[in-house]
Amino acid sequence: MRQNRDTLRGPLLGVLTLYSKTLCGNSAYAKTIQLSLRNGRGGLLSDSIPLIFVDAPTLKAEYDAHAPWFDVCQFSAKPGTHCLLPDPESGIKAVLLGRPKSLDTWTLATLATSLPPRTYHLADKFTPEEATKLGLGWHLSQYRFDRYQQKKATDYPQLTRPDNADGDYITAAVAAAFLVRDLVNTPANDMGPAELEAVAQSLADTYGATMRVVTGEALQQQNYPLIYAVGQASDRPPRLIDFTWGDPSHPAITLVGKGVCFDSGGLNVKSFVGMKLMKKDMGGAAHVLGVALMLMKLKIPVYLRVLVAAVENSIAGNANRPLDIVPSRKGTTVEIGNTDAEGRLVLADALWDACEVTPSPTLVVDFATLTGAARVALGTEVPVFFSTDQENAIALQRCSEATDDLMWQLPLHQPYRSFLDSKAADLSNIGSVSQGGAITAALFLQEFVAQDIPWIHIDVMAWNSRSRPGRPEGGAAMGLRAVFELIKGRSLSAKA
Ligand SMILES: [Zn+2]
Repeated sequence: MRQNRDTLRGPLLGVLTLYSKTLCGNSAYAKTIQLSLRNGRGGLLSDSIPLIFVDAPTLKAEYDAHAPWFDVCQFSAKPGTHCLLPDPESGIKAVLLGRPKSLDTWTLATLATSLPPRTYHLADKFTPEEATKLGLGWHLSQYRFDRYQQKKATDYPQLTRPDNADGDYITAAVAAAFLVRDLVNTPANDMGPAELEAVAQSLADTYGATMRVVTGEALQQQNYPLIYAVGQASDRPPRLIDFTWGDPSHPAITLVGKGVCFDSGGLNVKSFVGMKLMKKDMGGAAHVLGVALMLMKLKIPVYLRVLVAAVENSIAGNANRPLDIVPSRKGTTVEIGNTDAEGRLVLADALWDACEVTPSPTLVVDFATLTGAARVALGTEVPVFFSTDQENAIALQRCSEATDDLMWQLPLHQPYRSFLDSKAADLSNIGSVSQGGAITAALFLQEFVAQDIPWIHIDVMAWNSRSRPGRPEGGAAMGLRAVFELIKGRSLSAKA
C-alpha cells in the first residue's frame, strides 16, 4: 500500500484535505458549528434574532397589531410555516414559527438554509432532548458538497445553542453525518480503496486507534480469498482495513463495512441506469467510519474494532466469471452465481475475521449497500436490518425511533437458506429464486457469523434520491445515530 502513496498524491491530498476539514474543525461546516454553538448568554444574544413558536390563538392574542403584515405574508401560524417580523432599525425583529404538533430533529431544518444569514436563538424553553434535536437538525441541514464547484456555498444563518442542548453530541453527530456524505459524494476517481484507507488512517491517527491494512496479494497470503477475488480485476488493489480503539476491558463491539468503491457489476455488468450511482457502493464503509467517529469523539467506553473491506469491482481479463468457485476465509467454498453480488463476498471474509478473535465481540454490526430488494421492500429512505439477537433488534428499533433515524427489521427466515444451495460448491452467492433478495443476502452473510455472537446486518441505501429537510439529495447517513445510540446504551448498561 505504501508504494502507491506517491502516485496517489493528487487525489489523495484532495480527499484528506476534505476529510481533515470535517474532522479537525477548520472547515466552513465546523466553523459554523463552533460559532453557532456558542452559549447564548452575553453580548451575542443582544444581536441575535428570536425564533418564536406560535399557534393561531397566540398570534391573535399577542401579535394582533401585525395582522395586516400577516395577511400580506399569508401567515396564519400553520405548522411548518414561518414569518419574519420586520424591525425598522435592525431589519428583523423576530421570526414567528407555526408550532408543529410535536418537535423532531427536522423541525428547524428548512429554516437553517432559508433564513437570512444572521444569528438566531430559540425564545421558547425546551427539554434538553428537544433542544438537542432542534440544534442537530439545524446543522445537518447546512451541508453542501461543493468541493468540485467553483461557486461555493454562501453564508448560512447561525443558531445560538440553547443552554440545555448537548453541544458535544451535536458536534459529533454532525461530523459523522458530514463524513458519510462527503465520502459517498466523492466520485470514485477520487475515492478508491487507497483513499478510503487514508481516511480510516486519518481517523485512527486522530483518536489514537491502532490500524493494520492487508493489501493486494497479501490478502491471498493472509487468507482473505473472497476480498482478493472481488478486487483483483481493478488497477487499484483491494484491501482489508482493520482498526482497534479503546480499553479492552470495555464491551467489545465490532463494526464491519462494505467498501466497494465502484461497482461495475463485474462481468455481469450493470445497466447504464444501475451503474450510474455506484460510487455510493462504499456507503457501508462510510457508515461504520461515521459510527466509529461518534464513539471515539464522545469517548464512549467500548473496545471498538472496525473492519472495512475496500475493493473496486471492475471488468478485466482476470475478473471473476459466473460460476467460478472461490474459497472463503472460513473454508467454505462459494460459487459466484453473479459477479454483481460481490458485496456479500467481501463481507463474508471480514465477518468471519470479526468472529475469530478472542475474546469474542459482544456485538457485530455490519453496514452495506447490499441489495436492490431491500429498497423494493421499504423504499430508499428506511434502512432494513436483520438480527440474530432479538433483544438487540428491539433495542435498535427503539433507538431508531427515538433519534428520528428510522430503520425496520426483516426476518432471517431460515427456510430460504436452501435457495443458496449450490450444485458444485458449499454455497452460492445468489438465491435460486428472484424474490426475497434482501433476506437471502442476509442469510448468506449469516453463514459467516459465529452462532454465539449477536449480529446485526444493515442493508442501507446511503443516498437520498430527493431532498428532505436536513437531508439534501446525495450521499446520506441512514441509521447512523440509531446504531450509535444502541452501542452507547449497551456500553453504559455493561458499566452499571
Ligand atoms: Zn454489485
